[in-house]
Amino acid sequence: MKLVAAIDVGGTSIKGALVDPDLHIIATANAPTPQNDVEGSKTVKVISELLSKLASPGEIKAVGLAVPGALDETNGISRWSGNLGWKNLPIRDLLAREIKIPVAFGHDVRTGALAELRNGAAKGLNNAIFIPIGTGIAAALIIDGQIRSSNGFAGEIGHVNVGGEFNCVCGKKGCLEAAASALSITNAYAQASGKTGTSSEEIATLSQNGDAIAQKIWENAMASIATACQMLITVLAPEVIIFGGGLSQSGNLLIDPIAKSLGESLTFQKVPQLVIAHYGAQAGTIGCAMLALDLLPNGGN
Ligand SMILES: [Zn+2]
Repeated sequence: MKLVAAIDVGGTSIKGALVDPDLHIIATANAPTPQNDVEGSKTVKVISELLSKLASPGEIKAVGLAVPGALDETNGISRWSGNLGWKNLPIRDLLAREIKIPVAFGHDVRTGALAELRNGAAKGLNNAIFIPIGTGIAAALIIDGQIRSSNGFAGEIGHVNVGGEFNCVCGKKGCLEAAASALSITNAYAQASGKTGTSSEEIATLSQNGDAIAQKIWENAMASIATACQMLITVLAPEVIIFGGGLSQSGNLLIDPIAKSLGESLTFQKVPQLVIAHYGAQAGTIGCAMLALDLLPNGGN
């Protein structure tokens, strides 16, 4: 069997998964992301070590590499990533040289959209928006059947102003990401309750069970997401909005308040379906594996 590895380089950790041609995740391995690795050399070493943890030498036939930030996807270059400290770094080729395995390259959000478009919640649709909500928030835009990114710059819905009270990592105040990312929800709850380390999923459940602090924070976050969705719906008219990332694990606790809010605020717009990603928080990994399988004859089969 031909196996591929999906590698997702995030600001704090690098997540690796071994995936078979039927898109089953066989094994996973994670490692901390090297900090301030402007040359990328430490990062490719860490990825190489992850691959040897995932499989024996020769087993992995291709690697799908996903990174955040602004990318030149065609040429395998990270144009800029604030979290990783990269600027114009040819990370795809650096990795391919180190591991001597073909490397496919993609954006961490758009790989998730690819998985949902080919085989998930956007399958058969022409216009859809995929919004993974984790440490940050961004959107991948499926327009007329294609994932569009305007040279890698489009989709930064996390940094539209939703009138929030929190300062954002981008230097502005009131951004969606500062109000509704899993990290922001956790931080807001810690600040208001004095209890640190409560996950966004736990906060959603606490809110459902009547915890007044959790209720206020969750409601505010959902209202912020609904405001951003309203902008997206008005401008892009998606048939479906797909939520992924860690926050999607809250299921209907996420969907229902946003749907209710949109029901009250939309007037002439076509109301899209709101759904949780078919691949859940794994959408990015599966999309990354798809890119790697695309490099193999017959998709690895
Ligand atoms: Zn921002």
